[in-house]
Amino acid sequence: MAQTEPLPSPAGAARLSGIPASPGVAIGPVARMAAPPSLPERRPEAGKPEEEADLARRALGRVADLLDQRAAGLTGEAAAVLGAQALMARDPELARRIGEHTEQGDPAAWAVSAACGAYQELLAAAGGYLAERAADLADIRDRAVALLLDLPMPGLPDPGVAHVLVADDLAPADTVQLDTERVLGIVTRYGGPTSHTVILARALGIPAVVGCAGAVDLADGVLVAVDGDAGTVAADPDEEQVEHVRRRAERRRALLAESTGPGRTADGTGVALLLNVGEGDPGKAGAHDSEGVGLLRTEFLFLERTDPPTVEEQTASYTALFEAFAGRVVTVRTLDAGSDKPLAFAATGQEDNPALGVRGFRTSRVHPGLLTEQLAAIAAAARTTSARVRVMAPMVSTPDEAAEFAALARGAGIERVGVMIEVPGAALLADRLLPRVDFVSIGTNDLAQYTMAADRTLGALPDLLDPWQPALLHLVGTVGGAGERSGRPVGVCGEAAADPLLAPVLVGLGATSLSMSAPSLPAVRRALALHTHSECRRMAELAVAASGAEQAREAVRAVAHPEVAAW
Ligand code: PEP
Ligand code: MG
Repeated sequence: MAQTEPLPSPAGAARLSGIPASPGVAIGPVARMAAPPSLPERRPEAGKPEEEADLARRALGRVADLLDQRAAGLTGEAAAVLGAQALMARDPELARRIGEHTEQGDPAAWAVSAACGAYQELLAAAGGYLAERAADLADIRDRAVALLLDLPMPGLPDPGVAHVLVADDLAPADTVQLDTERVLGIVTRYGGPTSHTVILARALGIPAVVGCAGAVDLADGVLVAVDGDAGTVAADPDEEQVEHVRRRAERRRALLAESTGPGRTADGTGVALLLNVGEGDPGKAGAHDSEGVGLLRTEFLFLERTDPPTVEEQTASYTALFEAFAGRVVTVRTLDAGSDKPLAFAATGQEDNPALGVRGFRTSRVHPGLLTEQLAAIAAAARTTSARVRVMAPMVSTPDEAAEFAALARGAGIERVGVMIEVPGAALLADRLLPRVDFVSIGTNDLAQYTMAADRTLGALPDLLDPWQPALLHLVGTVGGAGERSGRPVGVCGEAAADPLLAPVLVGLGATSLSMSAPSLPAVRRALALHTHSECRRMAELAVAASGAEQAREAVRAVAHPEVAAW
């Protein structure tokens, strides 16, 4: 197979660097996400209160119509999110509050801003699901203010052609609306390698570069070449660069076609290559060349609902997925509610630090029925299919919690039970935890956030969340060692597993399976096939011994097979 080399950068062409976030290359014109409008310092004279109120109401009506129009072209969760937002824009209580402000002499845009601001504070104070809706209201306010002041509409751009989306950062509400036909690539100024935007971009197979400071200078319409493997963006590429990107995309397609079958190192050690699966067509997921599912994020069944799905609904959904993976392993993660995935019916009260609060398996302390019902549904679905179903709980912190979950799951009739290792405390006691379960799976996204004390939803600390951080890899090695001693499998299902240069390192640290989104799998399979198990061990030693993430990456690159080193 041909070797891939990074984009050439002839003099004059601007080459920006960021964090490689989703593999592949893309070329297209920039469409920028417009910044939210701000009210000018000089406030114009207001017209009559009822005229200003009418202007404001009409602007909100237009916003609601636009949201409805977009919802009409979508299905499922995305349509529901937009429909709910349109309802908010038409809320009579909001109109009443705007009227109060115009009566006090506010021009329309100022009245919208003030009324939405006060309403937002109320929602934020309510916490949980309602607090999440505060961001939707801010979006409505920005759109109405932009209309009233004749400024560019904020939110996802719609230039009418396929484009590279450039933004400061993308909110989950933006990413659910991404049109995969139109968005060729994504470049963000902020954002870390484990953010939900990145997870979604990978799942959709859209090349992405995040944490790219230079993105701020990319103007609308400028042609850019995005290299999601190298983490670079070439602005205004010349013919040679465009040709290079095309060749690279061709080679990637060839790689996808060439790399097939079960994962193994060059000397034949098996490493199961599994998929991370969430919302979407089970048939499509099952059609990928994988050995099964390493992480089924079941949250998709629970999000954007006011009541939990019934046992029957859950059973039907799990059955459809298990059937698509007949004969293969399917690892179902029980509901990971709380923190960045708040649910109305799993509220746990006001928390100042939700990432350190009642989330994941801890939610069952407050809402035990959610977990027992889910386990019953998984067991019922497993009984009717030939998929090798396993279940695991997220955010388990102690060996006792692991034993508690194992007893619950086995009591529900599920044979193979494991837990996720996402908390440093659980990793440090892996030797004591592993004998209580059948397997573990390391969630490097959360394990990175808790090891480095860096919020994964915050775009400002991507270097600390880098999965190459030696401290994180050290903990992976602690768990891997415990797995070898106990004879239990150790998987990795965080985004770290999707990096082809890091995959051999994880295997050298003791990982026996790697789980990732489908587009990442062929390159990881190829990278493993090019290294022996003892080479993986050597690469792991070098990475753990490095002083930082960048040094670890470079030390490993220096000894990796040249083909992998060039990715
Ligand atoms: C993780 O934390 O690494 C993980 C796989 O779970 P999520 O990203 O869904 O929190
Ligand atoms: Mg997690």
